[in-house]
Amino acid sequence: MEPPNDKTELRDFPWILVRLRCHFCQRKGDARLAVLSWHYGAGATLAQIVAIFMSRCPWDPHNPARKPQKYGRKCGAYCPDIGRTSPPDLPPSMTGLTLIEGGKDDQLPSEQPGEPNRRRIGGD
Ligand SMILES: [Zn+2]
Repeated sequence: MEPPNDKTELRDFPWILVRLRCHFCQRKGDARLAVLSWHYGAGATLAQIVAIFMSRCPWDPHNPARKPQKYGRKCGAYCPDIGRTSPPDLPPSMTGLTLIEGGKDDQLPSEQPGEPNRRRIGGD
């Protein structure tokens, strides 16, 4: 299968969810393909959808209300599924939290002090 790219039209997008993320703001969107097609047309490209998502970002570089700032941040909106050949593996409700393992070392219980266990062999 051809992985989707930014010129892929919604009608050719292979999965039911179009995920949108931004590198800077914490915004994220999981848009249903059917809803996007209904709003923007099946011929809208992923680049257009990302641009629409970007236009709601506080760092949208195309926002005319913002004065250009030489060192200002620009929105880092992107679609993480561009270039992917397999479907996103988890439904969106399960990707909200990321479990980070190994944050805390497992503490081993300290060794019991005292006599080492002795076992009598043979008995009295
Ligand atoms: Zn953004």
